[in-house]
Amino acid sequence: MPFLTEPEPPRGTPLDVLPSIRRIVARNPSVMTYQGTNTYLISGADGLTILDPGPQDAQHVRDILAAAGEVPIRRIVLTHTHGDHMGALADLQAATGLPVHGYRISGRAGFTADILLGDGDIVAGMGALFTPGHAADHLCFEYSLPDGPKILFSGDHVMSWSSSIVSPPDGNMLHYYRSLELLLGRDEVMYLGGHGPLLEQPRALVAELLAHRRYREGEIFKQIEKKTWVVAELAQHLYAKTDPYLKGAAQRNVLAHLLKLKDEGIAVEHAPASALPTGVEALGPPPGLVIDESASKGGFMREMRRDALRRFGLAAC
Ligand SMILES: [Zn+2]
Repeated sequence: MPFLTEPEPPRGTPLDVLPSIRRIVARNPSVMTYQGTNTYLISGADGLTILDPGPQDAQHVRDILAAAGEVPIRRIVLTHTHGDHMGALADLQAATGLPVHGYRISGRAGFTADILLGDGDIVAGMGALFTPGHAADHLCFEYSLPDGPKILFSGDHVMSWSSSIVSPPDGNMLHYYRSLELLLGRDEVMYLGGHGPLLEQPRALVAELLAHRRYREGEIFKQIEKKTWVVAELAQHLYAKTDPYLKGAAQRNVLAHLLKLKDEGIAVEHAPASALPTGVEALGPPPGLVIDESASKGGFMREMRRDALRRFGLAAC
């Protein structure tokens, strides 16, 4: 895959991305978040729009306020409700007193945005595009630059540095395919993602992302044609990952593919295995992707382990 890299960016300093758009990279680098979450500062006629406050980090919020300087912050907008994008929201709202705009049906238990957005709604000149898949409440935003070209704030749906994790039930592979296909029919010339640098000629990458998922789905189909698989075992068989986070992500992606095939009547789910095969571990994605931090981490991990034991095979014809 033709992914981009970038040197470690300076922290706390707004970086010029495009005319009227700056980003601050948060201090949460990891194998799942690359150099950190991008918080975008978009300058409009009435002041600034903050897109994705970023992870919970008091210094990051101070950095956003310092970058705004004398220019008033007018609104806060979320691409989705994962912790690495909205963790700083409460502190930023406390500092600014501003409402937050987000998708009308929140994917996070106990949270609802103050101003609800649906597909096609406009906020500060940005058009919301409902793009579930990575997250059930994911929005991209189309935006016309002052000098003409159209760009897309693509959140974690499409990123320049990596493919997205699709972790059920918040993540849904069938929706992810549809949301990628939606972008293929559009004409934005650049994407600004939730992590990583600006992406040019974005549709080429979107096409590759889709092709890659279809290839993976084909591989999974070939395996379930042969026998019934436990999720964790199939992930280990297909993805040669050593990093525990990436291993966990691979298990979530495999489960997402199997559930898509199940929804399409191609796969069936059997009673879960009682134990994992020797040498296979059940692992979940890291806390950035924990949808509801108020639920105990233990409960979340138990759920991940249960998912890793789920078993799927080919539907009888
Ligand atoms: Zn993210």
